[in-house]
Amino acid sequence: MKKRDFGWLVSLPFYAVHVAAVVGVALVGFSWQGVALAVALYYVRMFGVTGGYHRYFSHRTYRTSRAFQLLLAILAQSSVQKGALWWAAHHRDHHKYSDTPRDPHSYRDYGFWYSHVGWILSDETEETDYSRIADLARYPELRWLNKFHVVPAVVLAVGLFLVGSWPALVWGFFVSTTLLWHGTFTINSLSHIWGKRVYSTTDDSKNNPVLAVVTMGEGWHNNHHYYPRSVRQGFHWWQIDMTYYVLRALSAVGLVWDLHVPTRKVIEGDVVAIKKKSTSPLPVTEVLAAPELSEAAAE
Ligand SMILES: [Zn+2]
Ligand SMILES: [Zn+2]
Repeated sequence: MKKRDFGWLVSLPFYAVHVAAVVGVALVGFSWQGVALAVALYYVRMFGVTGGYHRYFSHRTYRTSRAFQLLLAILAQSSVQKGALWWAAHHRDHHKYSDTPRDPHSYRDYGFWYSHVGWILSDETEETDYSRIADLARYPELRWLNKFHVVPAVVLAVGLFLVGSWPALVWGFFVSTTLLWHGTFTINSLSHIWGKRVYSTTDDSKNNPVLAVVTMGEGWHNNHHYYPRSVRQGFHWWQIDMTYYVLRALSAVGLVWDLHVPTRKVIEGDVVAIKKKSTSPLPVTEVLAAPELSEAAAE
């Protein structure tokens, strides 16, 4: 297994948030209001991660307005996982090179800790490859947010402090963010290790109902690697996918539209049906990993 550096210096704020969560709870004490605030901000921001960073910016599985696109980027970035453009560029590489040395967080090549958290802290993944996200980089507001990516999180933290003082800051930001990080990162680590494989993709992706609850539907990761263009990752009614339900509600009120769902044949595993849907000369794996870059990202 190849060894990669974690980037200890740039990681200091990451560890500081963990320490602030533990020490903070010891100082402000336990409260059910605090727990409720942490959980609420966990799931609201998890939607930003899954419905924003992942299903919109990385895979473009639905369409929306330029204003709502900006809101999605702000909400996603309040989770402190860098810029939406940075996230999408790396994630597109994850699908293109899944579980090979060029995958930014390959468990197979770099081990559990690197795939879980090391890759996001590493000096080697700091840059944004704008050529991977040309469809989104043409929006100056997204480029600005990508450069000053901590701004939404700082505004959230300051806002919590102003409204609810130390308990709100500790529970709503430090505790909630620490949990949100590790909840999100299970998809890069555990869902390539632990679960059931339904589709014989070329990577190690797995379906895992526990991770699906933790991540609002992202635990159906084998489904997702099989058909990344789908807005829904739970392919069956019993595969709970909260992100998809929220997106359905948002589409009902007209905030998002053109939700791309797989046909029954695709769900049944008919790869020919997927190939037929594409007229691109690219190989099918490439087509499925990359969104339609020629399409306008937002209207
Ligand atoms: Zn994956
Ligand atoms: Zn993906």
